[in-house]
Amino acid sequence: MHIARLDLRGFRNLTAQTVSFSPHVNVVLGDNAQGKSNLLEAVFYFGGGKSFRARRERELIRFGEGEAALGAHIVSGGRQQTLEARFSVHARRILRANGVKLTSPRELVGRLPCVFFGPEELDIVRGGAAARRRFLDLALCQLRPRYLTALSEYVRLYGHKTRLLRDSRPGAALADTLPVFNSRLAAAGAALIRYRADFATRVTPAAAALHGDISGGREALSLRYVTHGSLRPDDPEEALAAGLLALMEERTEAERAAARCLVGPHRDDIDLLLDGVPLRAFGSQGQSRTAALALKLAERDIFREELGETPVLLLDDVLSELDSRRQDFILHRLGGGQVIITCCEPGRMTGLPEGKNLLVAAGRVTEAAAADG
Ligand code: ATP
Ligand code: MG
Repeated sequence: MHIARLDLRGFRNLTAQTVSFSPHVNVVLGDNAQGKSNLLEAVFYFGGGKSFRARRERELIRFGEGEAALGAHIVSGGRQQTLEARFSVHARRILRANGVKLTSPRELVGRLPCVFFGPEELDIVRGGAAARRRFLDLALCQLRPRYLTALSEYVRLYGHKTRLLRDSRPGAALADTLPVFNSRLAAAGAALIRYRADFATRVTPAAAALHGDISGGREALSLRYVTHGSLRPDDPEEALAAGLLALMEERTEAERAAARCLVGPHRDDIDLLLDGVPLRAFGSQGQSRTAALALKLAERDIFREELGETPVLLLDDVLSELDSRRQDFILHRLGGGQVIITCCEPGRMTGLPEGKNLLVAAGRVTEAAAADG
């Protein structure tokens, strides 16, 4: 599975153009702020049905313009397909696959699976819980269309409920509206917990194997999904929904006092353990990076198992953050699928497998000589 060509118009700072990719390794070089990450973001849109960083889609439209369009020519299962997205300041987005209109980004999902690994992903181990939830969200949105639906619903309801808690005057009655939000939020939240906990269990063996390969060590990496103490993440969805609702009811006064949602999977986390010891607290810098890398590559393995094809691996600015052993490992594991890597230091890229070099300057992408073989 790979993206062969990408048509760009009005997307971020990128100029109107068509970019061709190699089905193997593509190295995207350029100084800071030229448009390298924007290019990955455009490719990832077709994988995730959303940006990996924009909160609102209109951010994708070039400053001062009313519209943007992306077109991807992909090859999947030996068949060529076209995917299109149009964004407008004034109208709803329009998505098409092979010329046929799609009703929602969910229908894009699964057509060009992508695994994204950027500097934030290096925080999966050492950073806050948000980085770990993002890891789960990015993977599950592509793997499980129902997850994307539940997540969008959750985010929407969470926003509503937060405004309700914030804007209600002290003493005002929320008795009619709050229970409605709570039960819907609990249902969407329970679905998220169920999927995330299953994925954490599923990732463990693959990540443990990769961690061992990269480090050459024998420590076993494992993941455990953590939610509110009184809930068991392995419970069925209905039990989780009932448990969340009960917690929300119990904490209504506290939520009103804090003016925010205190109960739900937006506070959840995953414990990463190395031989049973929490990595976040005790892991060395190197162990942490190795674990982050192992988790992302494990995600790629799971996609490959489920889809029967290797997803596109998008690496944004991470190679220079890794030592030569891990760089080597990444470059060796890259075999077999399409990879698009951004980098600002040309010197770092020597020794890459054969592929294509793209240069980005002021939003224009040009082809350079093939990478060193
Ligand atoms: P770095 O090496 O620092 O990561 P980069 O090449 O990855 O740089 P990008 O993140 O792709 O840089 O951003 C390139 C430029 O695009 C930034 O200067 C940013 O201001 C600009 N940009 C972002 N969104 C828009 C937009 N909607 N319209 C126009 N320009 C934008
Ligand atoms: Mg960048």
